[in-house]
Amino acid sequence: MIPISKMAATVQQSPTLAAGAKARQLRSEGKTVFDFSLGEPDFNTPAHICEAAYKAMLQGLTHYTPAAGVPELRSAVARHYKKIYGMEVNPEQIILSNGAKHSIHNALAATVGPGDEVIIPAPYWVSYSDLVQMTGAGYKLVHTTEASGFKMNPAQLDAAINSRSRLVMLNSPCNPTGCVYTRQELEALADVILDSDLGVISDEIYEQLVFGDAQATCFATLRPELADRTITISGVSKSYAMTGWRMGWALGPMNVIKAMGNIQSQETSNPSSISQYATLAALDGDQTCVETMRQEFEARRELVCRQLNAIPGIRCPVPDGAFYAFFNIEPHLGRTLGGRKIADSASFCAAALEGAHVNFVPGSAFGCEGYVRMSFAASREQLNAGLEKLAAFLQG
Ligand code: PMP
Ligand code: GLU
Repeated sequence: MIPISKMAATVQQSPTLAAGAKARQLRSEGKTVFDFSLGEPDFNTPAHICEAAYKAMLQGLTHYTPAAGVPELRSAVARHYKKIYGMEVNPEQIILSNGAKHSIHNALAATVGPGDEVIIPAPYWVSYSDLVQMTGAGYKLVHTTEASGFKMNPAQLDAAINSRSRLVMLNSPCNPTGCVYTRQELEALADVILDSDLGVISDEIYEQLVFGDAQATCFATLRPELADRTITISGVSKSYAMTGWRMGWALGPMNVIKAMGNIQSQETSNPSSISQYATLAALDGDQTCVETMRQEFEARRELVCRQLNAIPGIRCPVPDGAFYAFFNIEPHLGRTLGGRKIADSASFCAAALEGAHVNFVPGSAFGCEGYVRMSFAASREQLNAGLEKLAAFLQG
């Protein structure tokens, strides 16, 4: 037997990917599942993006590229920041990687290690804690509540900082809560950060998926000094329905991006050349597809929140961005449903899957008990039918 390493022993399987795999398995056994677990757009990648990929293949653009990505794509990402946020970026401050998750991994690997601590506001996206632990660093959770819109305030951040703190991870729009920090709220956090030595990883992957009056803010643009302190993460997975292409990026201080490039050049070399040309078409092409999908997510948000809030014992705050409903199930704790005692969010999700064939992710996976995450990246028909099943099941 080959013993596994200490590092590997700290890593759990991603709970979101595991929940998605479970639904796939049940379907392959012929069972009906309303799968609201995985956070991935149900739309196909727009045709013009697929065509660009095919064209790239036919043109022989199928070789290794520079590890950090082809120069024209790094420039296209820089133009994206100029166009949306008016931010001037040198393309050398940008690295393309195998999905935003890989960018986060590289950013952490380049900046923290044993003895360091990373501050993570909770609820947080499932992978942050494991990705931090893989570097040997530790993390400190800052718990937020529904009453504060699941947002960390400056006093909480200030109180979490100690001599080992190196980074804080921000995520707005947020997975799982859908909260979107206002510019003023982020400025208040920026002031605390600039008074300390903290660096920032700002995960802005849902930047183009905001609803109503909510606006996404690029944290690095808030104060001139933040450009040197902030690693911005984003990508095409969510906005352009490109999860399977595995393309994300990081933008940050030159020394960090260079170190991330060295790590990536040893670890994976370049991300897929074909996906890079598809991403180029996504960023430079017609943006109507992004708005069309955003509008559909907004309509689903209304539908899902209305139906969830109509179910006794469920309370669902309205998310301002991303495509998740994060709802409270506390009144159901202590009940017995489908022969199962509901002790926590995990047993609630297990009972809902078994008894109503509806698949969610427990809040505990995001560091927040008493809540459940529902992805509304599914058709309105599926959402309606699944929520009707859930309502009937919870009636007992
Ligand atoms: N950050 C957040 C908050 C996410 O929800 C996801 C979901 N996949 C990622 C990063 C990773 O994105 P990608 O699929 O591009 O790796
Ligand atoms: N980010 C998505 C989610 O939260 C996709 C799965 C994953 O990468 O963890 O469901």
